[in-house]
Amino acid sequence: MIEIVQLPVLQDNYLYLIHEPTSGETAIVDPAVDAPVIDACEARGWRLTHIFNTHHHWDHTGANLALKDHYGLHITGPKAEAERIPGIDRPVSEGDVVMLGAVKAAVFDVPGHTSGHIAYHFADDRALFCGDTLFAMGCGRLFEGTPAQMWASLQKLMVLDGDTSVYCAHEYTTTNGKFALSVEPDNPDLITRMDEVKALRAEGKPTIPTTIALEKRTNPFLRPDSPGLQASLDMVGADPVAVFAETRQRKDNF
Ligand SMILES: [Zn+2]
Repeated sequence: MIEIVQLPVLQDNYLYLIHEPTSGETAIVDPAVDAPVIDACEARGWRLTHIFNTHHHWDHTGANLALKDHYGLHITGPKAEAERIPGIDRPVSEGDVVMLGAVKAAVFDVPGHTSGHIAYHFADDRALFCGDTLFAMGCGRLFEGTPAQMWASLQKLMVLDGDTSVYCAHEYTTTNGKFALSVEPDNPDLITRMDEVKALRAEGKPTIPTTIALEKRTNPFLRPDSPGLQASLDMVGADPVAVFAETRQRKDNF
């Protein structure tokens, strides 16, 4: 079993500490900044041993070198972006297994937001760390990939168990939900969820983690086969990649 601590930093980033109690090994996923990570570790008596990076963007790797200098830790990151990951020790890609003490995570290649983006799946703990690939009711912008690539990446995540917790890297849920409602206004699960999101945010609480099952019901980027979505885009019966691409483009201009 792993223990997961969510750290909100910068404007809307989430960092995740993952602690494996048997060995005491502790990882941080996508450290944008160092001070809140060090403070959170010291408050719990944990020593940081690993960084797991999902992609090269500065708000996911900005504290790599400072934390490596502070702890002498080991950095794992995407093989296809290795030259853009500061201090990387172990480049990984799909099929590789990453260990944290006694616990293992599978690596998935999920290109689209960036060309070499990866995700870490702790199957025994039903936990997915997916960076900027899948968000609550949204997905990452396609800075370096095509709609077909991103749709293929999202499909890899959609087949995980429905109760898998999705630890994404940003609190974009309110904006994503407003867009989702604009393209699927009659989706009852979406209407209910937005009420819950409003209540959580009014109390200053995070809406993350989400789950695979909830995303499949409410995230338009996982629903190109939805008749309601297809109708509102005037794309009834269209190919899923085309529906996904149109949805992504509309969100970019929302
Ligand atoms: Zn990013």
